[in-house]
Amino acid sequence: MSMDVVFSPEQELFRSTVRSFCEREITREYVRTCDREKQAPVELYQKLGAQGWLGINVPEEYGGGGGGAVEVAILLEELGRAFLDLSFWVFRAVTWGGIMIGEFGTEAHKQELLPKVASGELSICFALTEPEAGSDAASITLTATEDGDDYILKGQKVFTSGFKVSDLVVVATRTSSEGKKHHGITNFVVDTKSPGLEWQPIETLGHWPLGTATLYFDEVRVPKSNMLGTLHDGWKDLGVSLRYERLCLSAARTGAAKAAMHDSLAYAQERRQFDRPIAQFQAVSHRLADMQVLIEISEMLVYRYAARLDRDAATLRDAAILKLYACEAYKEVADLGLQILGGYGYTMEYDLQRHYRESRLGVIGAGTSDIQRNIIARTLGIKG
Ligand SMILES: Cc1cc2nc3c(=O)[nH]c(=O)nc-3n(C[C@H](O)[C@H](O)[C@H](O)COP(=O)(O)OP(=O)(O)OC[C@H]3O[C@@H](n4cnc5c(N)ncnc54)[C@H](O)[C@@H]3O)c2cc1C
Repeated sequence: MSMDVVFSPEQELFRSTVRSFCEREITREYVRTCDREKQAPVELYQKLGAQGWLGINVPEEYGGGGGGAVEVAILLEELGRAFLDLSFWVFRAVTWGGIMIGEFGTEAHKQELLPKVASGELSICFALTEPEAGSDAASITLTATEDGDDYILKGQKVFTSGFKVSDLVVVATRTSSEGKKHHGITNFVVDTKSPGLEWQPIETLGHWPLGTATLYFDEVRVPKSNMLGTLHDGWKDLGVSLRYERLCLSAARTGAAKAAMHDSLAYAQERRQFDRPIAQFQAVSHRLADMQVLIEISEMLVYRYAARLDRDAATLRDAAILKLYACEAYKEVADLGLQILGGYGYTMEYDLQRHYRESRLGVIGAGTSDIQRNIIARTLGIKG
């Protein structure tokens, strides 16, 4: 099996189309303003909808582009290079719309919701994590209790990213406490304006444009028809979506790492100390060399994994290796890059500080690096 992904002419064209769009529509100043003002790039998101990119992996019959994992990765990587938090917004449409609703929704969900997710009319986010259920995500306790034609949701979620701009939230709930904790989990798609659902923003180190939130469910009534997948069996369905989550987040961060690399290289060639560009000092050039290696390996892993997903051959280990490597790589690239900019890297005038802040989340969110290592170790036959 070849390790190289050969892009088709259509995929190459798609990449250059997305790249030109980003160069045209996403200025550095705009990204900085969204970051500083904690302002979601709503108009830009609508433009992505108009391009057909929010429904990139939604089947054509539901108003999408019918693309596979490689197309998703190309889109997320290019957007991530220009504006990481925007790319994460798209990741939510791809994963919780295209995959979660696309694979586990009823025919009615697909007909009603997918065209609107694809056009940008409806925005969607995901609430799994709870105060007492982080890495041990299957231990969630937010309950959904049957009541006539509805379920009543009661409990709390934490770190629901993008909630402030979302119309829908996919909520993982506990519907049974019998047997193993992985059993008895059921997913619902919930209207974010539902009575009884309150939320509060959480102050964080980064990812300010879309932000993250704590959700309080005080007897939120959700129609039974909003259930995604089968009762009690939601953990398995989440697994399918999380395979895409790993791809999207890693592709977006690989793009962001390239942006950090670009800025660091340009700075090193321009900044002069001791009568020469600092890039000529071996200590600096070796940092740049290391950054390039981290990025190229991330890129290889992203497209290897995407190609495997498209062949239905991606394993849990593949997903964990990708997530671990690409997220650690972005963190390392941002750190090395900031060092190259010296004192200016530490100021808010340059973008390296944003890469430094945002890359820190990579090794925590969506399964920490420790958890990825646990998964890899388990595939080696080591019981944790
Ligand atoms: C900005 C942000 C956005 C997020 N967005 C979302 C979102 O949109 N939706 C959502 O559902 N969640 C989201 N999360 C939650 C995120 O996935 C969790 O924070 C993450 O899974 C870790 O859980 P925790 O924070 O409770 O840490 P804990 O699980 O308490 O972990 C603390 C430390 O212990 C280590 N640890 C725990 N268990 C083990 C173990 N078995 N082996 C080795 N080490 C271990 C961890 O690696 C970590 O270093 C977000 C988080 C943040 C910070």
